This record gives sequence, C-alpha cells and structure tokens, in this order.
Amino acid sequence: MTDLDRKQDRAPVPKDWTYAPAPESRDIVRLRERYGHFIGGEWIEPAETYQTISPATEESLALIGEGTEEEVDAAIAAARDAFANGWSALPGSERAKYLFRIARILQERSREFAVLESLNGGKPIKESRDVDLPLAAAHFFYYAGWADKLEYAFPNRRPKPVGVAGQIIPWNFPLLMLAWKIAPALACGNTVVLKPAETTPLTALLFCDVLRQAELPPGVVNIVTGDGRTGAAIVDHPGVDKIAFTGSTEVGKAIQRRLAGTGKKLTLELGGKAANIVFDDCALDQAVEGIVNGIYFNQGHVCCAGSRLFAQESIYEPLVDKLKRRLETLRVGDPLDKNTDVGAINSKMQLERIVELVEAGKDEGAEIYQPPCRLPEKGYWFVPTVFTNVAQSYRIAQEEIFGPVLSVLTFRTPEEAVEKANNTPYGLSAGVWTEKGSRILWMAQRLRAGVVWANTFNRFDPTSPFGGYKESGFGREGGLHGLEPYLRFDE
Ligand code: NDP
Repeated sequence: MTDLDRKQDRAPVPKDWTYAPAPESRDIVRLRERYGHFIGGEWIEPAETYQTISPATEESLALIGEGTEEEVDAAIAAARDAFANGWSALPGSERAKYLFRIARILQERSREFAVLESLNGGKPIKESRDVDLPLAAAHFFYYAGWADKLEYAFPNRRPKPVGVAGQIIPWNFPLLMLAWKIAPALACGNTVVLKPAETTPLTALLFCDVLRQAELPPGVVNIVTGDGRTGAAIVDHPGVDKIAFTGSTEVGKAIQRRLAGTGKKLTLELGGKAANIVFDDCALDQAVEGIVNGIYFNQGHVCCAGSRLFAQESIYEPLVDKLKRRLETLRVGDPLDKNTDVGAINSKMQLERIVELVEAGKDEGAEIYQPPCRLPEKGYWFVPTVFTNVAQSYRIAQEEIFGPVLSVLTFRTPEEAVEKANNTPYGLSAGVWTEKGSRILWMAQRLRAGVVWANTFNRFDPTSPFGGYKESGFGREGGLHGLEPYLRFDE
C-alpha cells in the first residue's frame, strides 16, 4: 500500500453536504444608542428620531435622526460655506489626497463596514465583504486619480465645479451608492449633502468617522438622515445646485417635475427590468451561474437585476431543469453567516411588495417554482422563486419586483429576442449568453440598455459608465462620463 492509498483510506467521508454554521462576529462593530446628523464636521443632535432595525431579526439597532427642513437647511449652509471658503479653490492634487485617504481607510476598516452593512441591510456578508466594500474603495481610488486631470479629461472646456450637490440614495447598496455619489462630486471640487435611505443609514453614519479620520475639511460632506420628506427638502432647497438620485422611477419622475425650470442639474438612476438572453450555443452551466447571480444576488434588490430570463426554445427544458436544481443548493438565512447565498429582504414594506407581485403572477396563470427551504422565524424572508409559463403582458414580466423572483420567457430567433427584451419601459441593463462574438455585437447594438453584459452578469467597475435609457433614468455614474454631471463648462 502506497502512502497515498493509506491517506485516501483515512480521508473522512462526509455524511451529507449540510454546511456547519460559519457566523461572522459582530464584535468589530460598535453601535451607538443614537445618531445625529453630520453637519459641518460635527454631530448635530436631531429634533426627531426613529429606530433602525436589522431586517434579519427585527431587533432594534439604534435611534436615527429624522431630518427636518431646518436641519437640511443647516447642512446645505455648511456645504455652501465649505464650497466658497476653500474646497472649490483647492488644487485638484490636494483634493485627490483626501480621496486616496478615504479609499485607504475604507480598505483598512472594510470588515467593520461589511458587518454593519449586512446587519442593517440584510445582505449576505460574503457579498458586502467581497463586492460592496472593495467596489466602494475602488470608486474613491478611481476618482482620486481624476481630481487633478480634469483639464485633460475635458480639453479646452475649462471644467469648474457645480457647487453644492444634493444626493439621495436607496437601501440596496448603501455604502456603494454613497461612494458612487460622493467620490466624483469631491473629485470635481463640489461639496455634498447626502441622505441615505431610511432603512439603511448606519454605514453612511460610520463613514462620517472615516471623513474625520481623513481630516476632510468640515462641511465638504454632510450627512442628513431621514425619510422621503428629508429627501424632498433637499430637492426643493434653493441652495442646492445639483441633485443626484438613485431609487424608484416613481420618485425619480416626481423629482424631475419639481426641478423643471429651476436650473438645477439632475441625474436619475432609476428602476430596471433587465433581460438575460440565453442562446442555444452558450455554455449552459456557466449561463445558469450567470442567471443565478443575475437575479438572486443581493436578494434581487438590484436595479439592473436580470429579472426576465429569455431562453431559446431549443434549450428551454434543460435550462429550466438545471436552474431548478441549482436553486435547491442556494442557502437562505442569516446574513452574517459566511455560507449564506440569499439574505433577508430589506424591509417589511419591500417584502409586502414582493408578495403582492408574486400573487399577481400566480393569479395571471404563471407556474411557480420554489425550492424546499426552511426560513428563519423572525425577520423578513422570501424563498428564491422562478416563474415559468409567463406571458409578456403579466405584471411579473413588466414591473420591477426588486426581489428574488425570476420570470422565464422564450424566443426562437435573435430578432424575436431583441424585440421582446426591448418591450419594457425600462432600459438599464441586459445580458447575452452565446459563444458567437458576432452575435454578441449584433445584440448589443440593438438592445436598448445602458449596460450589456456578455457571458457574465452584474459585473461592476468604477472605470465603466453605468446608467439607463427610457424610464431607467439619465446621466451616467462611473468612468469619465461620471465626472460630467458634477462639472459646468464656461465655453
Ligand atoms: P424610493 O425611490 O422611495 O427611495 C429612494 C430614496 O429616495 C430614499 O432615500 C428615499 O427615502 C428617498 N425619497 C423618497 N421619496 C422622496 C421624495 N419625494 N423626494 C426625495 N427623495 C425621496 O424607493 P423605495 O425605497 O420606496 O422602494 C420602492 C421601489 O423602488 C422598490 O420596490 C424598487 O422597485 C424600487 N427601487 C429601485 C432602486 C434602484 O436602484 N433602481 C432602489 C430602491 C428602490 P426613504 O428611504 O426614506 O424612502
């Protein structure tokens, strides 16, 4: 008997493939009992407060300020003051130093931020640790690089900062959306008043610590927490020069109406109903992974989620079979467990919206599949779901569900795939799975979507512009394009 044979003989044979719990420790996060607003580099005691909770356990985490009009006014005054008295006149190379510092501190404190993000938002720790945090730091690094090169980015156009930027962000990627907004704004010499979403304020508040650590001058970034009324007060304030909004199409439209005629600049990054198109010549197992990542990543709380799967008829059955089998292996549960694939739904309200649309899907005649799955008793949860037998007209094929729910439709020819994929009021992203490069290019030219992924899905990079067509909004974030909304040009 060789050594190898002997070793193999002793190798433990697993009895089953259940994963042992692998919880990430919460100790690294120090929560305060209550948080104020961060205005002019100071913590300001709020007039009113509300509780923020963990959606996985419904436990209360802290008291948060409910920003009033007066508090928004104070934040905008602090931002205006910082803009006029130093920040906008600072050489780009100096602004870059602060952005580099912020990026490095985020990297150093990334575990703390990742745990807090999962605690407050419900997303799996492996996603906040491996996606949200690295990308947030990468955004600051990337825009730090542009801060002293704006003249080269826009030659002969004399780029100047816009002034005070009001930024309103959603709850699906709290820290990452903050980075998408703050990094380009500061790189261009603007100051900022940012409102995080009501349900996920904690990483934005921890970020204020990072700003202090980086010694960013007071008033350059101000964070006011609160609900939609706080957001509306920022939008309506005459002291704001630019609004950057990410969220629902409905609120985006309302903001656009309010800003019409005011001269304020506006960018909107709104909803989506992305088509993920699978041709019969693709690598099927790879496509299944891409479909799963496209719709179940972050519980489907992703504006560019691949929520409509278009399968070529010839591979419809094997594809759906493989997909169902793969769904059985997804682990739903504690967001702080390192093995969790699908975490908690962000809020009770969002869960109710998902349930309502899933019921509509059943009523309209679609066939539902949900793998066997034991959900925790407390908190907000939804089993990863696939609908087959879906018609284009069903609500589940038209409306943004923003949850772990996939609608499967079919097509025969590339022309039919394009027509069906574009049959939506949205146009944020799309995916194409095929081994033919020429077909990828042919599809990409015809799909009306801001991003088209080929043989992959939900890939993000700070150097690449992101944004929508049609009701998915306008303006781009990321890349060189992401600088333009934060600049004015004196021709
Ligand atoms: P909202 O569009 O309401 O929220 C986005 C941000 O805007 C939040 O900070 C919100 O505050 C704020 N806000 C709300 N009303 C106003 C207003 N009148 N003026 C200014 N700011 C405002 O999204 P919801 O959280 O209500 O989610 C509803 C649906 O929107 C989801 O089911 C999903 O379909 C879609 N959605 C899309 C997102 C995307 O990235 N495309 C992101 C989030 C949601 P507050 O948190 O207090 O409501």
